[in-house]
Amino acid sequence: METLKKIISSIDHKGYKAYKQLKGKYDFGDFILYVDYVQGDPFATPSRLRVRVLQHTAGFDQKLFSNHSRKTALEDYISRAFNSSIKKECRGNRGTGKSGLIAIDSGKQEILQRTSCVIDKDFVEVRFYAGLPARGRTILGDHCLEMLTGEIPKITRSSMLERSLDTKEIIRHIEVCEDQDFIRNILRENKIVSFIRNGSILPRRSGISESPLPISEAVAFKSPPQLEITLEAPNAGKITGMGIPPGVTLIIGGGFHGKTTLLKAVERGVYNHIPSDGREYSVTVGSAVKIRAEEGRNIQKVNISPFISNLPFGRDTVKFSTANASGSTSQAANIIEALECSAELLLLDEDTSATNFLIRDEIMQKIVPKNKEPITPFIDQVHNIYQKLGTSSILVMGGSGDYFEVADTVIMMDSYQPFLVTEKAKEIIQSRKDLRTVETPDSFKPVTGRIPLPSSINPYRRGRKKVKSMGLDNIIFGFYDIDLSAVEQIVDTSQVNAISDIIIYALGKKYIDGKNTITAALEMVFKDIEKSGLDIISDFRGQHPGSYAMPRKFEVAAALNRLRTLKVLHKI
Ligand code: ADP
Ligand code: MG
Repeated sequence: METLKKIISSIDHKGYKAYKQLKGKYDFGDFILYVDYVQGDPFATPSRLRVRVLQHTAGFDQKLFSNHSRKTALEDYISRAFNSSIKKECRGNRGTGKSGLIAIDSGKQEILQRTSCVIDKDFVEVRFYAGLPARGRTILGDHCLEMLTGEIPKITRSSMLERSLDTKEIIRHIEVCEDQDFIRNILRENKIVSFIRNGSILPRRSGISESPLPISEAVAFKSPPQLEITLEAPNAGKITGMGIPPGVTLIIGGGFHGKTTLLKAVERGVYNHIPSDGREYSVTVGSAVKIRAEEGRNIQKVNISPFISNLPFGRDTVKFSTANASGSTSQAANIIEALECSAELLLLDEDTSATNFLIRDEIMQKIVPKNKEPITPFIDQVHNIYQKLGTSSILVMGGSGDYFEVADTVIMMDSYQPFLVTEKAKEIIQSRKDLRTVETPDSFKPVTGRIPLPSSINPYRRGRKKVKSMGLDNIIFGFYDIDLSAVEQIVDTSQVNAISDIIIYALGKKYIDGKNTITAALEMVFKDIEKSGLDIISDFRGQHPGSYAMPRKFEVAAALNRLRTLKVLHKI
């Protein structure tokens, strides 16, 4: 620490470049501060710093991180604690640009594996950012001293030592996370694809906030008695809620009665949530994929023939490519790509679907004959997909009763409460005379894997790597943008950082080699991450790696599939 003080006083009032001298490692007695990367000017991305506390000082009981769920939850908790300590201890902006700021990448409603904190039996380490302070480009030594030798030690001591944290709260965080992973793993053996605990609060505060609607304004979830199931979680014990069985499930009901809110909860149930979220016991199989229409997207040799054939001018739909997909072709491609990654559950909402992809009623069938209509609507394939591939579907469908015929389960939302109405729906269908004709040509075949060509994936611009994520919706990748705005299960900007660097890692390791399919290549990356941690996708291993949070393979594949230069071969 004395060394650090000396350097700071020697560079005081000098030009900003002199900050580069801070790079290094400083022993504060009870922790070590690492300055890994020093920003070039006060407006640039802040400097990358780490603090490491050895376990004999930090004192975290090994039970708190004895398995992957617990470790992820504890790391997540410490990142959040570090963030709250920053809010308390850091004075914030002092000087030009980002001068004086201290920041860490900590989670929101989800508990995700991320690189901002790592813990093991030897130490706990937090990776964060600091805007080294300057007036213009002149170093403000006093402020720098205050930040690095005053605030950072206080933040570290109040958030990285077991004894300065609330043990009960830590345990709750860990146990709730562990329960969610556990439940996700036992869904299949309980013959359900999604579970929503009674008492859950599903609605969110607003269209722009993922925090829960205040309890006073929300109707708590209560399962219809026929779908009620009790599971045994390792920490919470017996928990009761609604189990959605495999097969084809419809969520029906009047507008504004909570259909989309229920589907969203199912969709987000692929991730673990924090204890106060309201959806912390809403758990869905990890391979559930939200499917929507996405006009204008790029499609590269996707076999959409189960849904689309006989296009004008004999256009190929077995290897369908376009730079500008329509609503229906994009939705078809989204389904096939999800199945290519072995999705076990498809989630569709009428709000974000192409009508002509979902349904063609009997009247339309009479006027436009099948040979003039390229689309086989989803209604005629949804059951085949379940029969042949074992992939279930949950659809929000307020507008068409035709789906009753193919549904195994019909849930009606009425004033935010679910009711099971399968029987009634089947009765209505049976009494109907003008049934539509089923248009399934031949039943659903396994999806062909596609092999990405490495030469078609170029993160470089004039010899320099140019990759930058822009919020949740966009990645600048070499000369092109990848539009992720329709990939709804990306929930954290740090997942977007990880997605682009996973693609680059897969190229570097030659997992994308012109022979492996997209899924095979991604599985290799995920195996490496499982073995060596998420740090491995960074160029700065062993230092502050940057901010990454774990995405699923579906979202990485989705990004690759939306890269407009991508070229693929079909696996034979
Ligand atoms: P639908 O898809 O049936 O039209 P939404 O799911 O979009 O309905 O919900 C309509 C509105 O009701 C939204 O503002 C939503 O936040 C709110 N809402 C949904 N579920 C609940 C609930 N359980 N308690 C209170 N408000 C809810
Ligand atoms: Mg809706």
